[in-house]
Amino acid sequence: MGKNTGKVEHRIFNPAMECISRDELYALQSERLRQVVRHEYDNVRLYRERMDAKGVKPEDIRTVEDLKYLPFTEKSDLRDEFPYGLLAVPQEEIVRIHGSSGTTGKPIVSGYTRGDVDVWSEMMARTLTAAGCSREDIVQVAYGFGLFTGGFGAYQGANRIGAMVLPMSSGNTQRQIMMMQEMGSTILCCTPSYAVYLGETIREMGLDPAKDLKLKAGCFGAEPWSEAMRKRIEELLCIDACDIYGLTEICGPGVSYECLVKEGMHINEDHVIAEIINPATGEPLPYGQEGELVFTTITKRGMPMLRYRTHDLCSLTDKKCECGRTLARMGRITGRTDDMLIIRGVNVFPSQIESVLVGIHGVAPHYMLYADRVNSADTLEIQVEMTEEMFSDTVSEIEAVQRKIFESVKSVVGIATKVKLVAPKSIPRFEGKAKHVVDRRKL
Ligand code: ADP
Ligand code: ZN
Repeated sequence: MGKNTGKVEHRIFNPAMECISRDELYALQSERLRQVVRHEYDNVRLYRERMDAKGVKPEDIRTVEDLKYLPFTEKSDLRDEFPYGLLAVPQEEIVRIHGSSGTTGKPIVSGYTRGDVDVWSEMMARTLTAAGCSREDIVQVAYGFGLFTGGFGAYQGANRIGAMVLPMSSGNTQRQIMMMQEMGSTILCCTPSYAVYLGETIREMGLDPAKDLKLKAGCFGAEPWSEAMRKRIEELLCIDACDIYGLTEICGPGVSYECLVKEGMHINEDHVIAEIINPATGEPLPYGQEGELVFTTITKRGMPMLRYRTHDLCSLTDKKCECGRTLARMGRITGRTDDMLIIRGVNVFPSQIESVLVGIHGVAPHYMLYADRVNSADTLEIQVEMTEEMFSDTVSEIEAVQRKIFESVKSVVGIATKVKLVAPKSIPRFEGKAKHVVDRRKL
């Protein structure tokens, strides 16, 4: 396994499952799929109605092949059924709620039974182990603790391994670095953009990670990043940087994870079934082809998901990995079908910004969003066209409109943006589907 620091050892947390034969896996997935479909049909009105509408009965779903007969689930379903509509068990069996950051007012939440928390912990234990973590390690968790799944996810995984956890939560960079140095943290968990920021601050303080820190590896995710960014993190911090993927609807971080081969993320396929579909038609696509990632949870009981559309674009491979794991791998997320941006951890949909702009007098509904990364922090600039009459107004009137947009976006979306009013007809027009987003954060 090349390109590694050599500081961490190759380890597998659960070889029986992570190296299971593809045939055995198929049988196990099919069996678990039959159970979860029955459970959803019997306990969740939305799934019963959708399956009835399609004329599909639980007994029609026998193997993974039959997945294609099941209805899809969308983020909007979670929003519509908020908070308890999709629970498949009585509320007293739920021991935890997590939620995802700011969409239009209502958050989306997921409920976990004790068993669901155990399954998720196992998934995260596999994830951390794949990056080289063992019970001797000191795991610094700099993901936020709260409704966000990042902090608790990493904590539970480290806990399952028996490693020592430093639950720092996010922010307070000076204190993170002081603790990292004094406690001798060996594994770091945070977003990739924060890892770069930590690395740059450590260097600015005159510290040499190779001598002054004990860091060996890190699991970085919750937002898209690139190979260039991996190289930067690895050089700044002198560690092996592994990718980790997840989403609240499916359990949180640990749905898939990279091993030290660093060529795609192994999917915890004994707990979730992954499909790639053509986002326009919903047709399943074969391995190797890029499309939209769809997950079905097969061991979750509190709030399982059938064919949840992530809107993340990537491709899958079931080629055997050098690490020995047989679990299929997904490539980096190359984009999103719905243009959703993640700005400083907040999910931002262009449609939310559009809804603010159409309510403001003096601007036309022609706009562009530019995401950038300045000093390792995400920024979002809104450029919107003025109407002809606004264009001839005084500077102070224009500034008042800018302020109004800033305030409205802040209250609706929950983030501060830069607002720039531009001349009429200066925003490009598109034939067909308009493009509103330019993401310039690729490092
Ligand atoms: P969280 O609150 O855990 O960030 P969300 O459900 O808000 O979870 O966001 C999940 C989304 O974050 C995913 O659908 C995906 O778009 C993005 N994401 C998470 N991990 C990664 C990753 N490693 N690479 C690219 N995108 C990621
Ligand atoms: Zn591998």
